[in-house]
Amino acid sequence: MAKQLDYSTLREIFARFQAADPEPKGELEHVNAFTLVVAVALSAQATDVGVNKATRRLFEIADTPEKMLALGEEGVIEHIKTIGLYRNKAKNVIKLSRILVEQYGGEVPSSRVALQALPGVGRKTANVVLNMWWRMPAQAVDTHIFRVGNRTGICPGRDVNAVERAIEDHVPAEYQLHAHHWLILHGRYTCKARKPACGTCLIRDLCQFEDKTL
Ligand code: SF4
Repeated sequence: MAKQLDYSTLREIFARFQAADPEPKGELEHVNAFTLVVAVALSAQATDVGVNKATRRLFEIADTPEKMLALGEEGVIEHIKTIGLYRNKAKNVIKLSRILVEQYGGEVPSSRVALQALPGVGRKTANVVLNMWWRMPAQAVDTHIFRVGNRTGICPGRDVNAVERAIEDHVPAEYQLHAHHWLILHGRYTCKARKPACGTCLIRDLCQFEDKTL
């Protein structure tokens, strides 16, 4: 685990991320807050590409909790059976749709606690929804951010909660909203798990990783 980088280094790192990609976007396709919740819940232990392939048709048919309930669990399964853990995920999609209809008038609630109370929605999922839909500077720490944070020293921590706290505590305020997308995309395409592309990395001179590749 690298040492936490200081303020001026973090400013420089995020200024470079921003210059390279001013409006980073999540890659999960959705058409409204409800379909975003469903897409993020389906993405656990699955790739965004795989989820998008399955949800394109599903969301054409069911883009509201009411329509999802009408489709039913078996109907959902038909669309998502290419995704890992699809039976359990279909069950959760139906359960959470029912809760949204019965308790929230068909709307998606906008607090972390209310989101986390939905079946299949953990803190990470709730933070993605808060960040992408409500533009709240919430940090959804996934495997990419955990790795990048600890390798580089941007946001080191022993577990995902510690990394989330490190981002909130150390990253300058003006970069908080997009921090998690910059870090995810950096981890997915440059600072990859097995073979990081250090040779072309835009923060190579600031990163503390000792085993940089050429
Ligand atoms: S220099 Fe290498 S280890 Fe450091 S952030 Fe870039 S890709 Fe990752």
